[in-house]
Amino acid sequence: MADNCLFCKIIRGEIPADKLYEDDQLLAFRDIAPQAPQHFLVIPKKHVSGPGALAPEDEKMIGALVRKGAELARENGITDCRLVMNNGAGAGQTVFHLHLHVLGGRPLSWPPG
Ligand code: AMP
Repeated sequence: MADNCLFCKIIRGEIPADKLYEDDQLLAFRDIAPQAPQHFLVIPKKHVSGPGALAPEDEKMIGALVRKGAELARENGITDCRLVMNNGAGAGQTVFHLHLHVLGGRPLSWPPG
């Protein structure tokens, strides 16, 4: 946990979130500024600043995180969806606690802008 990290504060319950799922290592909640009819985030409870900071011992966790994102998409009625992680400010990362965006419910074009 990092004291001043927004998502660590959500994990600790210091900031409210619209939670979809929680277990001992993962938390999923709806994005506060949704970019699609369905847009939620899946995060690890362990503070990792982003995909580029993952350690070899995180491989099991990141697999579980991606699998949970796809499972929650199905459970929320999203058949086709985009699972994306931004890595670094130049790629659009604004919160430096690793998170998987899950977006769906509208056609999603490729490549992204
Ligand atoms: P990124 O730009 O990839 O770092 O994504 C960070 C995401 O976190 C953005 O889509 C924000 O809308 C979302 N976000 C920021 N603050 C909150 C919050 N308090 N609750 C839920 N989502 C948030």
